Amino acid sequence: MESMLTKLAPAATRLGVRRMSSLGPEVDVLLKDKAYVNGAWIGAASGKTFQVTNPMNSQVITSVPDMNAADVSLAVDAANDAFQTWRGTTAKYRSDLLRKWFNLCVANHEGLAKLLTAEQGKPLAESRGELVYGSSYIEWFSEECRRIYGEVAQSPVASKEMMFIRQPIGVVGMITPWNFPNAMITRKVAAALAAGCTCVVKPAEDTPLSALALGVLAEEAGIPAGVVNVITSSRQHTAEVGKVLCESPKVAGISFTGSTKVGKILYRQSANTIKRLGLELGGNAAFIVFDSANLDLAVQGCMASKFRNAGQTCVSTNRVLVQESVVEEFIGKLKAAMDNLVLGDGMKDGVSQGPIINKSQFDKICEMVQEARGQGAEIVVGGEPHKSAGELFYKPTILTNVTESMSLYREEIFGPVVSIKTFKTEEEALALANDSRVGLASYFYSENISQCFRVAKKLETGMVGINEGAISAAEAAFGGIKESGLGREGSSHGLDEYTNIKYMCFGNL
Ligand code: NAP
Repeated sequence: MESMLTKLAPAATRLGVRRMSSLGPEVDVLLKDKAYVNGAWIGAASGKTFQVTNPMNSQVITSVPDMNAADVSLAVDAANDAFQTWRGTTAKYRSDLLRKWFNLCVANHEGLAKLLTAEQGKPLAESRGELVYGSSYIEWFSEECRRIYGEVAQSPVASKEMMFIRQPIGVVGMITPWNFPNAMITRKVAAALAAGCTCVVKPAEDTPLSALALGVLAEEAGIPAGVVNVITSSRQHTAEVGKVLCESPKVAGISFTGSTKVGKILYRQSANTIKRLGLELGGNAAFIVFDSANLDLAVQGCMASKFRNAGQTCVSTNRVLVQESVVEEFIGKLKAAMDNLVLGDGMKDGVSQGPIINKSQFDKICEMVQEARGQGAEIVVGGEPHKSAGELFYKPTILTNVTESMSLYREEIFGPVVSIKTFKTEEEALALANDSRVGLASYFYSENISQCFRVAKKLETGMVGINEGAISAAEAAFGGIKESGLGREGSSHGLDEYTNIKYMCFGNL
């Protein structure tokens, strides 16, 4: 009998290397150039492919199928067929399969992390962190799966019994971004599978390989064919693929993580079939430093929430609001912390900031900083590309004299740029922070307990970090309000998006 250790050994040592890449054998076994549909690894019907490149040096890692509307329809059919069986499985069975998938993710941790850095660019230490975080959703939902309870209500009529049960909604279309190519998928797929749903996942054009690697391990874990499908498409076909997922009567729900702009398109497209919608959209996080704050802790939190993933995180600090009396001291300490950032190839030890994901995001950062300068913002440090590290590197930057009319203040910059605005009073800070159409995360630092309660309750965001810059966890309810989206991921609430409540009334008893 196969020992437990053999079962959990990295896939590379168990299955042998399929193809050699420069990334090493632990990556090679996870590296796929086909999409995963109905338990098979297939190309696009058209035969078309697109290249996946490393943002560090533009080198091609591999090519994957460029699927279109017809391909995704087949994947929806497969997910729908699989749902007819999967919906009837026991929670214990699904929990066991999720646990096997989690164990394989742990066993293949290093290969998954290297693949993630290769296609996304973030430093390997951050990729390892994302893997721990991403896998924790699979573990969490393998546990929550067995606790999907119903209710029996107190009937007002003696001859009736009233019962509510929770049932899976059906096939879920999932569209995910490039900034967390692993975790944005696991927190959707694990919850959906736990609830008894099946899914079709469409990862971002820039980062399909981490998604396909999760497919490799789902297959190896024994998750039945058609339960998890991963299709890949280039930006040329993204819109039509999204349309099929939103409009197909066979798809019960859409779970999307990405920009508010695309979230609104999907919302509109889903109207005709009244889909269940989970939308994790963009933010514009305020980071407030009160004069009562421990400034060292505030700097530490700002570094974590701003410079992780080179600022390309939906909960990244975007507007730093500092009380006038402490602004000079805060900037001095922040600048000193930023001096320690090392830009370069994420695969190398000691690197703490990788490249921006692609040219269009890079250009957007450059334009926003240029525009702010033109409107009177002052550069304390940075403020320009860092070409010596590579084409897509941007220097860690601090801007002061930032005003509310600047686009980098009103919209996410999604880059390593700290924009600082000062305020005089708590009321002013709250008014500034809440003056936004989006409401994902916010942060503030204060050592005054009364202020902590007051401000935390008044901030108009789905999540608040109080003396804390890193708030994400599988146990936490992640999500936004206003135009930052609908629904929550993680925590026990993460299952709500994937279940319907059925009311059963037993009469004439
Ligand atoms: P994006 O342009 O909205 O892309 C996200 C995903 O949507 C990608 O897979 C993309 O595919 C796809 N997509 C684009 N246009 C589409 C369409 N018309 N129909 C269907 N799918 C479409 O966002 P991004 O630039 O990748 O990511 C950055 C945004 O995501 C930021 O606003 C960030 O705040 C947000 N985000 C939010 C969370 C959260 O949990 N709230 C987490 C991470 C990121 P292609 O790659 O092929 O274009």
